Amino acid sequence: MPWTQTPNWMRAVKTPLLLIDGAEDDSVLANAHACRLFGLHAVSDEPLSLESLIGPEAASRLIAWGRGLNRDGSATIPCRKPGFDRALTFDAARCDDGLVITISQTSQSDPTWMQTLEQVMSGLPIGLEIYDSDFRPLLCNAVSDFYFEYPDVVMAHHDDWWQHGFPDAETREEAQAEWHGLIARARHDRGKTYETEWTVRCADGRDRHMEFRFRFIGDTYVVVFWDVTERRRLEEEWREHASTDALTGLGNRRLFFEEGEQVHQRAALSHETMSVLMIDIDHFKAVNDRYGHAVGDHVLRTVAERCRVTIRIGDLIARMGGEEFAVLLPSTSRREAQIIADRLRRIVAATPVEVGPLSLSIWVSIGGATADKPSETVDDLLQRADEALYRAKASGRNQVRFAD
Ligand code: GH3
Ligand code: MG
Ligand code: MG
Repeated sequence: MPWTQTPNWMRAVKTPLLLIDGAEDDSVLANAHACRLFGLHAVSDEPLSLESLIGPEAASRLIAWGRGLNRDGSATIPCRKPGFDRALTFDAARCDDGLVITISQTSQSDPTWMQTLEQVMSGLPIGLEIYDSDFRPLLCNAVSDFYFEYPDVVMAHHDDWWQHGFPDAETREEAQAEWHGLIARARHDRGKTYETEWTVRCADGRDRHMEFRFRFIGDTYVVVFWDVTERRRLEEEWREHASTDALTGLGNRRLFFEEGEQVHQRAALSHETMSVLMIDIDHFKAVNDRYGHAVGDHVLRTVAERCRVTIRIGDLIARMGGEEFAVLLPSTSRREAQIIADRLRRIVAATPVEVGPLSLSIWVSIGGATADKPSETVDDLLQRADEALYRAKASGRNQVRFAD
């Protein structure tokens, strides 16, 4: 063969170049740029196999195309071999001893890695931003632009974002401090993703609750984010729903015990006394029996509302079931609890409940208990209050009785 070694002039060519031997189709000389393009570990001055460079399919296509070439021409051929998959354009010219071929990458069918990445990023349904080690933006996808491309603002640095995302200085400082803390950890532990949630002002002027996740890949800072406003609202709604009594709008039994446990723990720590009241409507069954369930419901709602507006801020009233309500009185002595209980009893009895043409006199009996010792739980207290309630009923109803 005429070319046994890469001629010196090939080294001077700054674009990938192949010389294909006219006699031996599969034997090819490649310059350094071509070696690099095809991922060879070392530049070879020796003839190489075309198949090993561009893969078997592309090699046979290129050879067949080259044979039919009279003078020069151009062909785009997909080249596939392990770890390599792209379409390349081969510009070939025939000379006496074979083919001289320069290679270029075709941008339409063969996007660069960056172009591929940009396309993938732009199709993502979440915001994605990539920053260099100085926190200068390298790439921001379309969703990121939607949320954070503020009108007339050029984001030259990640730091530029804070004043737009957090117009309120105090919230901004808090968020930044949190972020700096997390970033320090993320730098230290590079494989790990860190996350936070912030309510941020977006480019359209709306405040959104967003979840952010970020990490370093090498020195590159990558952050992804998405809008969780609706999800958090639904969760909140669900939580409220799960702890609210549908008929009266008061807290339910579950909420009473949850809050009760917290109040009990605080009381135990601060050595304060807490009290509870059990309220039961007198002869309520008779209201249902005489006027129907709908009237009974109306009475329940009215009694609940009268009690709700009578207790203090910080007290909690819940419907425990049927026509029974419980009141949690944090930091309240027996004497104070007795005053509150009596006020509740009087307020319910003071005005008849009006339902259409009906005017119903309604009374409640109340049993109360105050914690004797810090170890006494809300459950213990309710039990004692229930016993006191029983005594209030037995003594003629429309009464308050307290556990000893
Ligand atoms: P006492 O003075 O001893 O408490 O007598 P009472 O009739 O109030 O007590 P009892 O436990 O015998 O009856 C409670 C009634 O409450 C029976 C039940 O039908 C009624 N009730 C329970 N839940 C509801 C409700 O959601 N709506 C209505 N309208 N009635 C209810
Ligand atoms: Mg009852
Ligand atoms: Mg009753």
